[in-house]
Amino acid sequence: MLATGAGATSLAMSSCDSAPTASTTTSTTTTPKVPTPLTSKDWRRLGDALIGTLVLPFDPSYATDRLLYNSKFTNPHPAGIAYCESPDDVARCMDFVNRHGIEVTARSGGHSYGGYSSCPGLVIDVSRFNAIEVDTRANTAFIGAGARMIDVYNEVGARDRVLPGGSCPTLGIAGLTLGGGVGVFARKFGLTCDNLRGATVVGSSGERLTVDSSSHSELLWALRGGGGGNFAVATSFTFDVHPMPPVTLFTLQYPWAAASDVLEGWQHWISMMPDELWSGCQLYSQGTYGFLAQVTGVYCGSASALTGLLAQLDTTIGTPPTSSFVSTDAYMNAMMSEAGCSRLSVASCHLPTTNPAGVLSREAYSAKSSYLNAPTNSSHATAFVQAIEHMQSLAPTLGGALAFDAYGGAVNRIDKSDTAFVHRDKLACIQATSSWSSYASTSQIAAGQQWLSWLGSDVFVAANGAYQNYIDPTLSDWQSAYYGTNLDRLIKVKKKFDPDNVFRFAQSIPTHT
Ligand SMILES: Cc1cc2nc3c(=O)[nH]c(=O)nc-3n(C[C@H](O)[C@H](O)[C@H](O)COP(=O)(O)OP(=O)(O)OC[C@H]3O[C@@H](n4cnc5c(N)ncnc54)[C@H](O)[C@@H]3O)c2cc1C
Repeated sequence: MLATGAGATSLAMSSCDSAPTASTTTSTTTTPKVPTPLTSKDWRRLGDALIGTLVLPFDPSYATDRLLYNSKFTNPHPAGIAYCESPDDVARCMDFVNRHGIEVTARSGGHSYGGYSSCPGLVIDVSRFNAIEVDTRANTAFIGAGARMIDVYNEVGARDRVLPGGSCPTLGIAGLTLGGGVGVFARKFGLTCDNLRGATVVGSSGERLTVDSSSHSELLWALRGGGGGNFAVATSFTFDVHPMPPVTLFTLQYPWAAASDVLEGWQHWISMMPDELWSGCQLYSQGTYGFLAQVTGVYCGSASALTGLLAQLDTTIGTPPTSSFVSTDAYMNAMMSEAGCSRLSVASCHLPTTNPAGVLSREAYSAKSSYLNAPTNSSHATAFVQAIEHMQSLAPTLGGALAFDAYGGAVNRIDKSDTAFVHRDKLACIQATSSWSSYASTSQIAAGQQWLSWLGSDVFVAANGAYQNYIDPTLSDWQSAYYGTNLDRLIKVKKKFDPDNVFRFAQSIPTHT
């Protein structure tokens, strides 16, 4: 979760096609053993067969349709982008890629840190699967796989319900859920994937599957944190949702001289806090603006009930904040604030490519993640502070951040093997980011990357793992870092549901050990 938050300094399923009919496997295609060469006529035929739209390199919209969220990925040049309107469209695409032996990848919000939602072959874009329907009696929400988080918050919130998820408004629900989904309600209501009850997917040979605890339950297990792009193309999800609690936001900023105490104190404090309180601690290097240490959070309760908890933070840190913002707000205002959209409408809180009213911009960044198992001692906290100072000296024109996001609470009450998301005994996830504007020089961008590599080898503890949704192409031991003791079971699921490894990318789950 890249911290935004109140006061922080930083950085169409056209009416979602009707849910698939049967819960059984209905294969619409057989995979030929020898791919047939691809001609432009074949692409035309695919376009004609889709209810949705196929965009090809000579189409006017291709220049923007090919782009991912992270503007550092200038290269994606897929041979075709299929904006599917129905699971049958997705099945037709799978038939096509199998017939011609070309690469395929699914794309929802396009935020993959590794750029893994594009490929030289066919991109299956699910953004038109964007229906959001809430059943307040059952406390469930049906959400199309291409819905953006800001729309999820808005629609689910309008029914006085909460689905826990990441704060970034433009994230796609599919990538977020399939890799975990950490957000400000995680300690209270769990990860997004913990709330996943079922999904509809199209498998590697075009079969349509309804996945839940009684049907293809092994796949459901894998979809809960086993990483996007590995097993099937999800077209919709059904989630548990929760009655909306009162929400109080806070942001506390500290003098840089106290940064080490802030980080150390925050770790001890958050490990004693109730589930209702979620918090993050961030250390920033902000170029000419210098450094910033802050603690942010969201409390499911009133500002007065939060006062006592924040007083304990003051005691633990030993230095009072230089600025403090605490505000109880309506849920949607709070989410807009967390999304960095406090002064915007929901429609504007989009990229212009996904909503004509959208005013948000794509960003350029690189990142690396790790975990803290338990509160660190002061020398380790100081090492993190010095790491941010090192970033500033290496790349003074870039933004650098170390963001510590609290786990615990509901996240850690689930057993490691109950879902594919294995990081169940962590105090906090650490995310290091180096971000830059379009004016940044190549050498500064390289220096930021060098800082991340140095962090990975010298400051982060490799054995502590890494968050699969902060997917990191530079990580060599990614299989164990993302999936730990769940890797073997994920490989078995992969072998069963995608035996020919149709869904593959540099860090996809393999079909064998
Ligand atoms: C600015 C920013 C803020 C973020 N904040 C948070 C946060 O607060 N909490 C958090 O947990 N994470 C956060 N993340 C990480 C985010 O969860 C991952 O990047 C996630 O994978 C993005 O999902 P997406 O659908 O937008 O991306 P995509 O790039 O579209 O997809 C990511 C992966 O999932 C696959 N995929 C996409 N759609 C499907 C589908 N329908 N079926 C199967 N596979 C599919 C893709 O092929 C790709 O491999 C953030 C990322 C960014 C860039």
